Amino acid sequence: MRFYPDFVPAFEHEPTKERFAIRHIGDGVGEGVVSLVDFEPGDLVFKFTGVFSSDITQFTLQVTEGLHLHDPFFMGKILHSCDANASVDMAARTFTAVKPIRAGEFVTMDYAQTEARLFKNFECCCGAANCRGFVTGYLDREESGLLVARLAS
Ligand SMILES: [Zn+2]
Repeated sequence: MRFYPDFVPAFEHEPTKERFAIRHIGDGVGEGVVSLVDFEPGDLVFKFTGVFSSDITQFTLQVTEGLHLHDPFFMGKILHSCDANASVDMAARTFTAVKPIRAGEFVTMDYAQTEARLFKNFECCCGAANCRGFVTGYLDREESGLLVARLAS
């Protein structure tokens, strides 16, 4: 069973309902993708697709400056973690495991890996030891890092 609708042509390594489930999560987080199978570091987790857009939405990841890929069906529902278990390749359109992912765990990425600016910055509750607390895109992160460096000098 597919996550993508019929108008999206089937493709190799696309996510299926045998391998993943979308879970609703409370308190405004929305939804997340849970793996139903185990992955080891280096494993291809899934390939994704979407529609190119110049706009940032809740369901886009950035391809290059000013170009975003919108996928409200699957990839756009991947949750953020500051200590993510998967890494994104926007050119290959793949998610690859960087840690073991066990059945029942959320597949996560670090939004600052791809996003210069987020649709919406947010307070992070990922619980990781290295949690940044407030998550922004990498440009905002660099700017706040520079600000911290200036204040410290
Ligand atoms: Zn975090």
